[in-house]
Amino acid sequence: MRGDSEFMKQAIRLATENVVSGRGGPFGAVIVRDGEVIATGVNQVTATNDPTAHAEVVAIRRASAQLKDFILAGCQMYTSCEPCPMCLAAIYWSRMDEIFYGNTAADAAAVGFDDAFLYDELKKPVGGRTIPAERLLGEEAWENFEAWRNFASRVHY
Ligand SMILES: [Zn+2]
Repeated sequence: MRGDSEFMKQAIRLATENVVSGRGGPFGAVIVRDGEVIATGVNQVTATNDPTAHAEVVAIRRASAQLKDFILAGCQMYTSCEPCPMCLAAIYWSRMDEIFYGNTAADAAAVGFDDAFLYDELKKPVGGRTIPAERLLGEEAWENFEAWRNFASRVHY
């Protein structure tokens, strides 16, 4: 993998500006395709009362809107910090090609942003997780997939 340090510098700068301006957490992301910035994002969790508004997710939403495509193949994610499990999943769902990160998850944990518990949760069986989850009306819910299978103009993603 060969990252372009200029795009990482931009992600790092966005993250610092986000803190200094009082807008949010120390995280910035830049999405690049063919050497061009498609979209950027900063952490907006507290600014927008959106717990999913991590820099990477914000950038992915903007890049997809910009490219009018839910597939971001051919794009690279430059993020100021190693992605949390939610952002990592979002990057995989968007089918991006590569990820470059500045700070590590351990660095983030050192300043109070510890996502190790989420990685641990993912390894546990459903019944052993911190937030209880149980199946309810599974047979009735199957009608959703029946509808999907029968919907002729479905768009696969
Ligand atoms: Zn995240």
